[in-house]
Amino acid sequence: MSRVTCPADPGELRFLGESASIPQGVASYVSLKELEESEPISTALSILLAQVITYRKTGTKPNDKSLYSRVSQSTKQSNNFDRTMTLMCLKSPPGSNTMIVTLDGRKSDEVFSQCLSARDSKDGFGPGAIVAIRGPEMISTYFGEKSGLPVLQFTGGMKLVNKAVSRITFSTIPSSSTVKRMHAFFYEGVKVTLRQMNMAMTNCCGNLCDSIDMKSSDGTWKSSCPCFVVSKGIGSIVFDLNFSVETPQGASFEVLRFTSRSFTGLLTRNGFPSSINVEQIEKAGADYLIYSQLEQRIQNINDNGGFDILGWIRIGLKNDVSSAEGLKVRSSDMVRHVTRMRAHNALPFSTNKLINVEEILTEATRPTLPVASAKTADKSNLDDTSKQPSLPAASAERAGKSNLDDDSKETAEFV
Ligand SMILES: [Zn+2]
Repeated sequence: MSRVTCPADPGELRFLGESASIPQGVASYVSLKELEESEPISTALSILLAQVITYRKTGTKPNDKSLYSRVSQSTKQSNNFDRTMTLMCLKSPPGSNTMIVTLDGRKSDEVFSQCLSARDSKDGFGPGAIVAIRGPEMISTYFGEKSGLPVLQFTGGMKLVNKAVSRITFSTIPSSSTVKRMHAFFYEGVKVTLRQMNMAMTNCCGNLCDSIDMKSSDGTWKSSCPCFVVSKGIGSIVFDLNFSVETPQGASFEVLRFTSRSFTGLLTRNGFPSSINVEQIEKAGADYLIYSQLEQRIQNINDNGGFDILGWIRIGLKNDVSSAEGLKVRSSDMVRHVTRMRAHNALPFSTNKLINVEEILTEATRPTLPVASAKTADKSNLDDTSKQPSLPAASAERAGKSNLDDDSKETAEFV
């Protein structure tokens, strides 16, 4: 069974940021597996179709910049990159589908040149994007060491595939419990149970890396991210979530420190305003209402087809398991790193039910009104869970749970 279906001829793919497509009948697909394992083949007219998993800034340890050469059978340090992009090949089998592209901040236009504006825009080249690469070279280099990830090399820029019109569909791409090498997975229709919810300021400054992996396993936030440019006007508060995942096939696993800017934006109305900081929210007690609404929205999505999640796993990484922060991680359940999470179907609630941080905070800081006027204020408000005066923690959950049904009734009870 094919995990990913896409047009038989790469000429049928459509791209963002350009009207041209690949001429019909001249190009064919090539997989990472073929580039890695077969005898050299001509790839001049080959297209590698891949999905962006994550970006990472290169660390400062010598090993962080070492590349293993298949030809010389030796490892060398390279100063030609300061970031990496991890890609999942859509034509390779699960478990051996993952590769690295090295990126140089000083020459970043080259790789993104076919649609440079999408490097820094929402829904551009961030995690989850599908890219088409023409003429990839046979794999000759591995990241770090011989058993590291294959390093993909190509000249010319990646094309950003327009998923909506290119007829690309996914079914679950499972992770493998026997493959030691880092590999990517995709699960569709999973149920998510929140274990821990926090809000925090991320140091991610743009839209490219999506603030993924910005919280280290020791709980500290990384001081800078792999984004190339600062995107103006984006808020810096993101949800920091630990959760359990249950797949429709019955597998379950834990996800820690999911800090996605786009996921935060998905469930909040206009995100977190850049003028607000976490201390203000907590001081006002607005955090309880925000968490309660978040939990409820996630439950709504669970009940309406669940979530699709994309990410990676590397079995045998000790810190992942040992830093489980109080969560019980069974030895058979390796922690997965999720880099993108979306509702499997359209969101099961209208945009006025998105978490309205600004409104919740305004209401939480408003002095408690006398009973009569509170009721009047209540009637004029259509989306009013957040209009309640500060609630004690225990009642916040009740208020949140009921707010899709009849908000005004519940509010009256509290006033
Ligand atoms: Zn970033």
